Amino acid sequence: TATEPGRAKERGLSTESQREGGRVDLAANSLLNKLIRQSLVESSHRVEVLQKDPSSPLYSVKTFEELRLKEELLKGIYAMGFNRPSKIQEMALPMMLAHPPQNLIAQSQSGTGKTAAFVLAMLSRVNVLELFPQCLCLAPTYELALQTGRVVERMGKFCVDVQVMYAIRGNRIPRGTDITKQIIIGTPGTVLDWCFKRKLIDLTKIHVFVLDEADVMIDTQGFSDQSIRIQRALPSECQMLLFSATFEDSVWQFAERIIPDPNVIKLRKEELTLNNIRQYYVLCENRKDKYQALCNIYGGITIGQAIIFCQTRRNAKWLTVEMMQDGHQVSLLSGELTVEQRASIIQRFRDGKEKVLITTNVCARGIDVKQVTIVVNFDLPINQAQEPDYETYLHRIGRTGRFGKKGLAFNMIEVDKLPLLMKIQDHFNSSIKQLDPEDMDEIE
Ligand code: ADP
Repeated sequence: TATEPGRAKERGLSTESQREGGRVDLAANSLLNKLIRQSLVESSHRVEVLQKDPSSPLYSVKTFEELRLKEELLKGIYAMGFNRPSKIQEMALPMMLAHPPQNLIAQSQSGTGKTAAFVLAMLSRVNVLELFPQCLCLAPTYELALQTGRVVERMGKFCVDVQVMYAIRGNRIPRGTDITKQIIIGTPGTVLDWCFKRKLIDLTKIHVFVLDEADVMIDTQGFSDQSIRIQRALPSECQMLLFSATFEDSVWQFAERIIPDPNVIKLRKEELTLNNIRQYYVLCENRKDKYQALCNIYGGITIGQAIIFCQTRRNAKWLTVEMMQDGHQVSLLSGELTVEQRASIIQRFRDGKEKVLITTNVCARGIDVKQVTIVVNFDLPINQAQEPDYETYLHRIGRTGRFGKKGLAFNMIEVDKLPLLMKIQDHFNSSIKQLDPEDMDEIE
């Protein structure tokens, strides 16, 4: 219809401009998360399970041995340093490995062990004697597909006869090639092409279908429909698995369309709280003044590591230069960097190579750097309506109640911004004390 291209264009345009203005690029964020993730994310919530057949017994496992995996697969798991299943894996693995196979929709935040779980399921279901694609995993981007592939390669290190192939743009396969690899990981468009146009993959022979990062997938135009077209061509006995870090209604609707008769597993996210954070503010006249206050704080207390947030890239850059000139070791995390560059800056910071990380809003979501003791709002987070951005404030400063350590937060405030700070204080019903930057004794 006439309106379609217009609308698509409009959407494309707004995505571009919003990205500059702070729209979260879901795929990039997800990749960053994977690149910097080193261990499991904990949660104090219980896993919620909704069984397709509520009367069948519910199995959970506390060890990998209980799963009766192939010896070489178990070896791979231990070689990765996994001692026991994560919270979500305890429930998901028995369902995924059950006979007959069961379908599953699983939602839990990034870092809780979803990828490891479905990689294990794919590896354990491959028949190594058969040399054709048997497991198909869809991912939203080339980079995310590669990340999953690397997990397959690590976990399958001792499964020497299992091989992976990437159905991603740029991986050119000559016409008539007979694909002998058992696990295919790819993006919906290319997979569709390989299946229907080029007939490289016979979908009727797939027995495990994984749709990873469903929330990112539906955020990308065309991917939902392409995924559904692929799914429709699978045999009815194919096991279908869907994973998502978040679960808005749109994800749920998509999940229900694409996964027949699913079991559902959910793990709620740990809430952020300001309870164990001491919050202060310093009244300042201008940017220079803010910087002076920052130096006083910095000199006045023993600081492990600090993250400093600025509202604009320009401010962040300015502050970085000032601090460097004063001999501080700082690094700047800014929106114009590639995901890989960001990951490497965060990694250096984690390793303690720099003590201060200066950043803007866009980059900092989802970074959890445990050893950070101080967060500084060099500028308050403010939205376009010039109102406080409460959510961002909480994300910058809050910690998860049970696992987070105590922390300190400082807000550098121009006098005219004081009412906004008071709104933040009221909103969270938590006190933010005024601090005389000349007198640090108040803090400790
Ligand atoms: P998700 O897919 O939910 O983001 P991952 O499967 O990528 O989570 O796991 C997050 C991190 O935890 C990875 O570094 C992974 O190697 C590790 N991990 C996964 N399962 C376990 C486990 N059972 N024990 C220890 N570490 C694990």
